Amino acid sequence: MVSTPDDDVPQCTSCGACCSNNHDARYIELWEVDRARLGDALSTVAIELESRWFLRMTDGQCASLIVADDPTSSVVARCGIYESRPDACRAFERGSMACERARAIDVPLQRLSARSGRR
Ligand code: SF4
Ligand code: SF4
Repeated sequence: MVSTPDDDVPQCTSCGACCSNNHDARYIELWEVDRARLGDALSTVAIELESRWFLRMTDGQCASLIVADDPTSSVVARCGIYESRPDACRAFERGSMACERARAIDVPLQRLSARSGRR
């Protein structure tokens, strides 16, 4: 997710929709540059499927998405690997058509308290 000014679009920290999907384990593929950037964290935040690497998904959302237990918090969702997130996430523009489509799917965020094994 990339934050750019747009009054009609929620702040990414109150959304997280593009970090969620409908339980597709191959939602975001990691390329060599992504894997190198992740370094030792790779095996924690990603999985290898048939010789390809993907961000690890849990309950329909990226396992690296940190969701606040308190839904009234101003920061509801944030990327736990922001500095080393993959290129696909860096390129995803807030306010874009893809952002609009992601928000239209409306996958409920899974709260930390309902999760186990969360980073
Ligand atoms: S769907 Fe759009 S507004 Fe929501 S987190 Fe992603 S980029 Fe930000
Ligand atoms: S790496 Fe970060 S920005 Fe990318 S899908 Fe996961 S939580 Fe979202």
